[in-house]
Amino acid sequence: MTKVYKVGDVTVTRVTEMTISGIQPEIYFPGSWSPAFLKENRDTLPSGVIDSNSQLIVSIGTWVVKTPNHTILIDTATGNDKNLPYNPDLSNLQLPYLERLKDAGVTPEDVDYVLLTHLHVDHVGWNTRLVDGKWVPTFPNAKYVLPLSEQQYYSSTASHNKANEANFNAYEESVLPVVEAGLTQTIGPEGGEFLDIFKFIPSPGHSIGQMSISLTSGGEEALFGADVMHHPFQVYNPEWNSMYCEFAEQARISRRWALNYVADRPIIYFSTHFPESAAGYVTRSGNGFKWEFI
Ligand SMILES: [Zn+2]
Repeated sequence: MTKVYKVGDVTVTRVTEMTISGIQPEIYFPGSWSPAFLKENRDTLPSGVIDSNSQLIVSIGTWVVKTPNHTILIDTATGNDKNLPYNPDLSNLQLPYLERLKDAGVTPEDVDYVLLTHLHVDHVGWNTRLVDGKWVPTFPNAKYVLPLSEQQYYSSTASHNKANEANFNAYEESVLPVVEAGLTQTIGPEGGEFLDIFKFIPSPGHSIGQMSISLTSGGEEALFGADVMHHPFQVYNPEWNSMYCEFAEQARISRRWALNYVADRPIIYFSTHFPESAAGYVTRSGNGFKWEFI
């Protein structure tokens, strides 16, 4: 049963493309992972974030936002049939994402806007699908809204480096076809308001021009943080970058910003990659923060 969150007049639901367990924390958090953290905190950490072998569990998915007037998707997961030369685990997937989207009450034709926090492989995939050997927009009636600096970077050879290998070919298969179809709109580097209820807020570091998205409706607010964090352990350890963070020091700055932003208000944090419901609250605890799923 899909959980439905209410933020003012708007509903938010999660469509999970996949859940991945068995992730080795020392590889996921290179140079940061400390077994002592788990040992000392095991009893108080939220359940469902590690598997029976103490390996990490993460998810990949989309947030569906329904307003009285519009159906909006935030990020589009990985997609089927993709050719990702340096990312075999995410290549050529055959997953029932569109069926799950339908279970959440959304057909591809219903989608009015697709908001993209950044252009990494696991956030843009369902922008397109393969039909008769050609990549076509999955959501034909949608405007795809994305950060301009992300488009500039991933469409250029500047992004063709080792730190970015996991994303090779994602732009060509999953972003360029919607650009060529004239369906995109860009958000400048300063971010800004969109559709009265959204605000794009720059949170770079994980990627060059990543934006978090705040949602405000009926006096309530929530934050879609994008990949400032990948796993709840980073709430407790804001200095830990994931192996996918391209610009390390800036990623830490943006993570701290997001944690303070949601803890101070306090408002719901909709994560991109946390397991379980992927949504919850960050609260202050001692000198740091802690996480609670809702
Ligand atoms: Zn991601």
